Order: sequence, then C-alpha cells, then structure tokens
Amino acid sequence: MGSNAIRLQGVRKSFGQTEVVSGVDLRIADGEFFSLLGPSGSGKTTVLRMIAGFEEPTGGVIELAGQDVTRRAPFERDVHTVFQDYALFPHMTVLENVAYGLKVRKVAKAERLVRARKALAEVRLDGFGDRRPAQLSGGQRQRVALARALVGRPRVLLLDEPLGALDLKLREQMQTELKAIQREVGITFVFVTHDQEEALTMSDRIAVFHQGRIEQVGTPAEIYERPATPFVASFVGTSN
Ligand code: ADP
Repeated sequence: MGSNAIRLQGVRKSFGQTEVVSGVDLRIADGEFFSLLGPSGSGKTTVLRMIAGFEEPTGGVIELAGQDVTRRAPFERDVHTVFQDYALFPHMTVLENVAYGLKVRKVAKAERLVRARKALAEVRLDGFGDRRPAQLSGGQRQRVALARALVGRPRVLLLDEPLGALDLKLREQMQTELKAIQREVGITFVFVTHDQEEALTMSDRIAVFHQGRIEQVGTPAEIYERPATPFVASFVGTSN
C-alpha cells in the first residue's frame, strides 16, 4: 500500500452531551476507493465532515498527507466534498460551472477553460459544456458536480451519499462510472453510503460503522466472507 492520504487517530465528536463518534482510528492510502459504510446515524457523515474540516473533532488527530490538519479550515485542506444535493449555478453553462472554482483560485481564463474541458471529458460529458444545468438529466448533473470537484485536482475527494437521490437503474450505472473515473484520475475517494451492496461493489476497502465506532476495516471480500463481529455479519447480510 502507498503512503497515507488520510490518517485518523482517536477521533471523537460530541454534540452537546451526546458523543456520536467515539474514538475512530483509520488509515486511507493514496489512490484508494474507500467507503464508510453503516446504518443511518452511525457517524459516517460526521467523520467525513471532520476530514473536510466542516466539524472540529472533540478529540483526536486528523492528518492529510502526513500533515496535522485537525485545526485547519476547510480551504486549507487539499480535499473537495461532493454532496448529494450538489447545487449547480443555474444561470451558468456547464463549462462555466466547472471552471468557476478555478476562477475563485485566480487561475487564468484560458487555463480554466482547458482544465474544465478536460474534467468534463473525464466524466464523459464532452460536448455538454454549453448547456445549462436545467437541460441535463439527474445523472448528468451529478457528473457535472463531479467534474467541478475534479477540476481543482484535490488530493482527496469526499463523497457524501452522492448517488442517494438517483433511481436504482441510474444509480447502478453511476456506480460503475464513478469507479472507472476514480481509477482513471487516481485521486483518493472517500465514499459515504448506507448501502452495503454499493460499498461492496465499488470499494478497495470499507470501514463498517456502528454507533460511532468502526467495527471492521477490510476489503469487500474480507468484510463479506469474514465479518469480524455479529453486527458486521448481520449488516452485510451473511451469517458465517
Ligand atoms: P450517518 O452519516 O451515519 O447517518 P451522522 O454522522 O450524520 O450519521 O450522525 C450521527 C449522529 O450524530 C446522529 O445521531 C445525528 O443525529 C447526530 N448529529 C449529526 N450532526 C449533528 C449536529 N450538527 N448536531 C447534533 N447532532 C448531530
């Protein structure tokens, strides 16, 4: 395995009196497709938000590429988050939507357009640059959101149930595409899902969450064939 893109040590989070993340240790390697899997309320999103910098841990350390970023603001971290309710700017074209983040970062216009076109090609949306978001299907809008994330070439992409709003057929198609895109671009993906099949088909490794803790970390085969706890066995759907 390569170097660590992400390392969590003893990470905790409380909201008021309630501890929702209770001491999480995790290493995610560069270039991994890594899923945080678990039932609703198990703390996956809170862990993702702490990696992004949107929530500050109550305890523990978060490292990105070997640097302690625990107290750093989101924009000081080389990560980008794709949410389920990806909001595109309706008045801008697809190309402008994708290029916008580079404008904020003061990349020159010609360079912005070249990079935005490349990102659109990566998500298989060549030729869609002049459309408006309203002229796209749900799956295509999702791909624009992904292109917008890829264009800045973050070291890590955080995806919070990005396929949750899609219907089953489109969801399955996007699973395959997302995995292929991740392979192509080689960026570390951290993917939150409550859907065990989705995690098993897409991931290099999975962390199974239960009540704010990680019950098991492993490859899909390890998790499926050798569940470490009764919870993992029942959640992943095997009895052995
Ligand atoms: P998951 O992503 O696994 O569904 P979450 O990380 O979203 O779980 O939530 C874990 C627990 O933390 C839940 O009980 C949720 O209600 C609680 N929680 C999340 N965010 C907040 C918040 N901002 N304030 C209070 N409680 C929160």
